[in-house]
Amino acid sequence: LDLTSGEVLGIKAKSTILACGGYTGIWDQTDNPPTLTGAHIAMSYRVGAELVNLEFNDFYGTDLVWPPSVKGTVVLYELLAPQFTDGNLYDKDWKPILPKPLPVRDEAMRIIYQVIREGRGTPHGGVWYDVTRSPKGKDEVRKIYETMTPKHYEFIKKAAGIDLVEEPIEVAPAVHYSSGGVYINERCEASIPGLYAAGESAGGYQGANRLAGMGLAAAHTLGAQAGKYAALRAKEISSIEVPSEQVKKAEERIESYLKPKSQPITPSSLKKQIRQIVGRTLAPIRNAQMLEKGLNEILMLKEKALPKVEVPDTRAFNLALMEALEAELMLDTAELAIRCAIFRKESRGHHYREDYPKMDDKNWRKQTIIVMERGEPKIFLRPPIYTKLFPPEVS
Ligand SMILES: Cc1cc2nc3c(=O)[nH]c(=O)nc-3n(C[C@H](O)[C@H](O)[C@H](O)COP(=O)(O)OP(=O)(O)OC[C@H]3O[C@@H](n4cnc5c(N)ncnc54)[C@H](O)[C@@H]3O)c2cc1C
Repeated sequence: LDLTSGEVLGIKAKSTILACGGYTGIWDQTDNPPTLTGAHIAMSYRVGAELVNLEFNDFYGTDLVWPPSVKGTVVLYELLAPQFTDGNLYDKDWKPILPKPLPVRDEAMRIIYQVIREGRGTPHGGVWYDVTRSPKGKDEVRKIYETMTPKHYEFIKKAAGIDLVEEPIEVAPAVHYSSGGVYINERCEASIPGLYAAGESAGGYQGANRLAGMGLAAAHTLGAQAGKYAALRAKEISSIEVPSEQVKKAEERIESYLKPKSQPITPSSLKKQIRQIVGRTLAPIRNAQMLEKGLNEILMLKEKALPKVEVPDTRAFNLALMEALEAELMLDTAELAIRCAIFRKESRGHHYREDYPKMDDKNWRKQTIIVMERGEPKIFLRPPIYTKLFPPEVS
């Protein structure tokens, strides 16, 4: 869809590279941009490409929840350690919630989520991140933020008028990274010829929880690989046709959003509902009941709400139309990710199931693959490929 004219264009691409980040924009609590709506997941699924590990969504434990001007800003958890600020996190009654020495980041994230879930959270749904009572004193604590995370420290001051050295702030877990994505091989090719994925759009290679620093490294290295192999393929192909019925179908889909409805809803209100459902369903702590409920809610939105989406009947620069298409794809992406989370009956990485709290290597040290078969999602396990470091044998 050419936004400037509203025209549907068929692009004769010999190779297509998906490089549109992860799908973290389908959650309400995220520290990623809202533009990461996961269109690549839904679109790859629709053309029959395999997707991998969509249940592995990494969370960061201490993102600001208030005020709105700084919502989703990462506040470094590690700086609470005794060698830095020696701060802590507190519930609404000012009870410290973390033991010392501090648990690793992921464990702390789940403790924070549990405190909020139990109703012990702060007024805006977080916990207090407090360094004001540190035995180190304010000058030393300030120096730590000024030297280790100067941009964040200044941003929070400027955008919210909060000096976190002087007053406690409200933080909560937010989705941070998509370890799942389009299944690729070593040439970054998807399971469909001519389709490539790079960076956070590709999945599987980070396992169940990515290591710090691996996001940017992967974006660069996979970007180079995908570019190289996509170019080599394009060189071999002389011409390509775009089936006219595909363009017609896309035009009809777009027309359906422009038509007046009896009880119309806006795409932005649909997006908001999707994000709220995904936020409480694909949460840091999951169980079968909440996952099934979330799946049903998403399916209901697809059936009942999506056909009511209406946008102004104009063609050029119709951003509402773009939002409608995004919302439609978000629904598919949400459905697929929830289905994968229901499927994996163990806890691993950031997929924590309170009804299956243990990691089960014997049955589940495998990748979850989801693919469309005869119009329906088919889910199965595939052994991971180990190249250099081999895990211990499973007894
Ligand atoms: C707060 C934060 C801190 C991080 N810190 C680190 C760190 O310290 N070290 C590290 O290694 N990694 C870190 N990461 C992760 C790292 O930044 C990302 O993994 C990496 O930027 C992903 O690169 P990418 O090119 O795949 O996607 P992105 O950088 O997300 O770029 C994707 C682009 O595609 C656009 N897009 C989305 N959908 C569409 C569409 N349908 N059509 C067209 N365009 C679209 C998006 O708007 C975006 O501009 C951090 C991430 C966040 C959010």
